[in-house]
Amino acid sequence: MIRFEPNNFHFNEPFEELEKIEKLIIHHTSRVNFSALDTHHFHQKERGWSGIGYNYFIEKDGSIIEGRGLHVGAHTYGYNRKTLGICATGDFDIEHPTGAQIQSLIDICHYFMEQYQLQPKDVVGHRELDGFDYTTCPGKLFDMNEFRTMLENIQVGVSKA
Ligand SMILES: [Zn+2]
Repeated sequence: MIRFEPNNFHFNEPFEELEKIEKLIIHHTSRVNFSALDTHHFHQKERGWSGIGYNYFIEKDGSIIEGRGLHVGAHTYGYNRKTLGICATGDFDIEHPTGAQIQSLIDICHYFMEQYQLQPKDVVGHRELDGFDYTTCPGKLFDMNEFRTMLENIQVGVSKA
């Protein structure tokens, strides 16, 4: 079963309510060995945001840390009110996600797809959105089509069960 680890991060501003959830957007940190807490501090101190911008964060060992949770995030400008941003730590331009990270990404996407009636096509990489072709996020080594195929295969497995 999916397990969300609560954070004890301090956010500088109150959370805002999401309008709806129509997509799940996958990100990488684009930094090696950069934890959820590192990201929280980076977004807060360097970017000047309330706190970690991602809704959920996946560590190398696959643990899923709650960031903003089901509140408006700060991860994909123009999309934050209608999407969830899920970030896995790593620089997937130069390293592959761990098996545990892939498993957790599948688990969390599958969970939210069921909750919000989303399809594999609604799970997108940051770079695939209009206006973001300048970024490789979630990394050149992260194949979004392959990932969506994995999600499709899970759906097929579930409907047959
Ligand atoms: Zn991104």
